[in-house]
Amino acid sequence: MIPYGRQDINQDDIDAVLGVLASDFLTQGPQVVAFEQAIASQTKADHAIAVNSATSALHIAVAALGLGPGDLLWTTPITFVASANCGRYCGADVDFVDIDPETFNMCPAKLERKLKDAALAGRLPKIILPVHMCGQSPNMAQISALANTYGVRVVEDASHAIGASYNGAPVGCCEYSDITIFSFHPVKIITTAEGGVATTNNPNLAEKMRQLRNHGITRDPELMTGPSEGPWYYQQLTLGWNYRMTDLQAALGISQLQRLSEFVARRNALAARYDCLLSGLRVLPPGRMAGARSSCHLYVIRLQDDFIPHHRTIFEELRDNNIGVNLHYIPVHLQPYYRGLGFAPGDFPNSEDYYRRAISIPLYPGLTEVEQDRIVEVLSYALGLGNACLNF
Ligand SMILES: *Cc1c(COP(=O)(O)O)cnc(C)c1O
Repeated sequence: MIPYGRQDINQDDIDAVLGVLASDFLTQGPQVVAFEQAIASQTKADHAIAVNSATSALHIAVAALGLGPGDLLWTTPITFVASANCGRYCGADVDFVDIDPETFNMCPAKLERKLKDAALAGRLPKIILPVHMCGQSPNMAQISALANTYGVRVVEDASHAIGASYNGAPVGCCEYSDITIFSFHPVKIITTAEGGVATTNNPNLAEKMRQLRNHGITRDPELMTGPSEGPWYYQQLTLGWNYRMTDLQAALGISQLQRLSEFVARRNALAARYDCLLSGLRVLPPGRMAGARSSCHLYVIRLQDDFIPHHRTIFEELRDNNIGVNLHYIPVHLQPYYRGLGFAPGDFPNSEDYYRRAISIPLYPGLTEVEQDRIVEVLSYALGLGNACLNF
């Protein structure tokens, strides 16, 4: 099976992890600090806080912004469930803004309308959380301008997008947001096995997130409620969690970061090749936004209208031919948990339409041109089956 995504681990990566295993610190050591510095330097953000997953990064990000019961967080339905769940962890209500059908990202026009209505109803969100779907930045200039107008905070879920850029600056620089988060799960652009990071330019948010990832504990005498009681002393100031990244993971991350630009360039080259190869087939390529350079985490094709009834057949045909296609994502509001909170089919039509047509085809640095040709050949055959079905 050609998977839809996979990690690229070389001998340097392996040596980096082995080096830590033989060292004094498996966790809470120098590698985590060095990884955070490397991420801050890559993203040009002032602060980076490494954690054990992007889900944890989302949780400490929205918690640091003070999200709580009675508050509202808005994200988009076309994302992994974690983007919405972080709001629920804090006891907040979650709602969604529909996507732009071309870029699959939060639609600024829909956001503007929804903010206008929410302001009238006195129910503005505390946080909006746009997602860099497939590695391409949302229109952050517009989203951030709207957020500023209505006094709403912004967290970017850039799980897909380390190494991407927007308006000439690296994603994660937080020019248009309070906090940006990234994932280092093995299918993402670089990996630490499990892992994530939050970046910010706000020193208070950075300090809060550092505390929240470690039980709400500080060892900084300046932050304590009274004088230190001795060299052993620490204080728990708030309720946090153990979301720490290990030094094994951080060392892998530092090593992987050295090949980030190589990975992103290879992904972009393969995506451009797909654009070419697929131009003769009756599928819609992913839409691009001017000013954004994607990390090309995912390559999502959409079926044209007459193929929609054959979505599943085409998907299964690809899988049967060992092409590990996937579907990113099932609209979050249609998950049983979110339906239980009152969401229903029809709530976000662009997202639901996307779901009826989307297929993620394999894209990762180690994918070969020969494999890519075979994927397109099988897809072409599967679409032919779709055609044949239509004719009978
Ligand atoms: C992968 C992903 C996450 C969660 O990442 P983990 O590191 O697995 O917790 C969150 N949001 C999006 C959009 C993702 O793709």
